[in-house]
Amino acid sequence: MFAAHVSTSVSPAAREGENNSNGCSVSFALFSSDSQQVARLSRSIVKDVRRFVQLRDRHVVSDNNNDGDYCHDKAVGSGGQNSTSAGVKRLWTVLVTMSAKLQYNWFKLDPEKSYHPKDNTGRMSNGIFLYSYKDIPEFLKGNPFVINGYRAFLPPSLIIRSLCFWSNESINIWSHLLGCLFFFLLMLYDVFVIVPHFGGPADILVMCLALLSYQVCTILSAVYHLVNCHSEAVAQRWLALDFTGISAALLGIYLPGTFYAYTCFQVWRDFYMGMFAFMVIAVMSMQLHSQFLSEKWRVRRLVMYALLAAYGVIPCLHWIYLNGGWQSSIVQVFIPKVITMYLVCGVAFGFYIFMIPERWLPGKLDYVGHSHQWWHIIMVFAMYWWHRTGLEFAAIMALHPCI
Ligand SMILES: [Zn+2]
Repeated sequence: MFAAHVSTSVSPAAREGENNSNGCSVSFALFSSDSQQVARLSRSIVKDVRRFVQLRDRHVVSDNNNDGDYCHDKAVGSGGQNSTSAGVKRLWTVLVTMSAKLQYNWFKLDPEKSYHPKDNTGRMSNGIFLYSYKDIPEFLKGNPFVINGYRAFLPPSLIIRSLCFWSNESINIWSHLLGCLFFFLLMLYDVFVIVPHFGGPADILVMCLALLSYQVCTILSAVYHLVNCHSEAVAQRWLALDFTGISAALLGIYLPGTFYAYTCFQVWRDFYMGMFAFMVIAVMSMQLHSQFLSEKWRVRRLVMYALLAAYGVIPCLHWIYLNGGWQSSIVQVFIPKVITMYLVCGVAFGFYIFMIPERWLPGKLDYVGHSHQWWHIIMVFAMYWWHRTGLEFAAIMALHPCI
């Protein structure tokens, strides 16, 4: 936690490698490409850390909220001057430096950028300003009916800390963080308890891949919603990864469905699974295109994902035909489930696209109840429900082998 305390502030003075009076500033600019600047700022960072340790030992509380500085942490510690040896100080320095480097590389911080609030129009919440829609940068805008509770300009340490504070992204983040954990635990449970009752290694592999793809989808989404308040570059990068997660989830939805539906039609199974894999890889490749996230490609993006989702209808109709039409009992059991899955996802997507219900209650559902939160929660339940359907399908196919 010490590293997080120390790296909390990126003051202009620290960015320029000068001494800073608040005592807890460590500049991420340490990792500038210029080697001389790196050396100069390295010295500055060590100096800052030393000062922080001294202040901490004296139980100094540093709080510079009034001048808009984010260095809001209470300097804590009760060790006293004798308790912090020189070796520990050196260790802290190394840890802080490593932490700063990690954060810089991971979040691609711009050393020249100020992370201070632009003005005082926002509401202060435990050291973090929450902005209203009119005050946030353009790249964070998207839903004018969610009016308050935006985080913006946060450095990494405050981004992590904002996990514990209420903002309009809290439910978006936690719904998918907990969703990811849930799918991970479900994977362990299925692999060790459920699947061995009816299946072998191939079934375990299919179930694992499906649940892993749900975990990839939810974790990439959660991280995107967590870090998008940092800067435009970070938001764009993680938005692309968020889209990649959607492709992965679609693969996870198709994989068990195709695998079990076509158990008795091996050639078609290989064909459809190959097609899905090809399409998902093609979509993921398109995401690497520099224009992918541009406004110009907005329609193409929507069409692409709609086609990818709709393509599942073709193997579905083909499967009905191969099983003898609507009269087949297995068709009557599973087709309503497929239709339900499409309906639930379609309705959730419609709410998300048309910003329902917040368009009728602007500003009233900022923190709880706006469309993106419903979209997240419904998708977690839909993926779980589809997974249960896959297990049901797998158990039936194991009991009724191909003639
Ligand atoms: Zn989302």
